[in-house]
Amino acid sequence: MPELETLEDLLVEQLRDLYSAENQISKALPKMAKAASHPKLRQAFERHLKETLTQRDRLAKIADMLGVKPTGHVCAAAKGLIEEASEFLSDSKKSPEEIRDAGLIANGNRVEHYEIAGYGTAVALAEKLGLDKAVKLLQQTLAEEKATDEKLTALSEEVNDEAAALSVGAEEEEE
Ligand code: FE
Ligand code: FE
Ligand code: FE
Repeated sequence: MPELETLEDLLVEQLRDLYSAENQISKALPKMAKAASHPKLRQAFERHLKETLTQRDRLAKIADMLGVKPTGHVCAAAKGLIEEASEFLSDSKKSPEEIRDAGLIANGNRVEHYEIAGYGTAVALAEKLGLDKAVKLLQQTLAEEKATDEKLTALSEEVNDEAAALSVGAEEEEE
């Protein structure tokens, strides 16, 4: 464990956490895409997988610029969020596809919010340290995470409508 004495040390620690998160997320997203029924949702996960790989490369590039390795740390939060997502996937195997999609979005939004918090912090630290190139790269990623979060939220309106219609149908059947 490296010593954390300076703001740059803290930035490196944050970057390693994000690198591990992106790495784990890149392995989880294909499963999320495969489990999605709504074509737009599947596309959103597939597209974000491509972005995620670019995001991981950006972090490696920044680490390289700082003369450090991006590896050596495991993001426990990403691990937990992904565990929750896979638990949901096994619990919802027999659920209606609208419900499964709505749950996939809920899990996806949690991941994006974690990343938005991480990149927001990393941008602020890099700005403070005057690392302009790193700031630009981190801001690109931050914008992608925000756009993904918004896209998932917009899709949830559609999917939740279908899921809610399903509940109404089920109630009527019971009567
Ligand atoms: Fe990401
Ligand atoms: Fe983390
Ligand atoms: Fe993301």
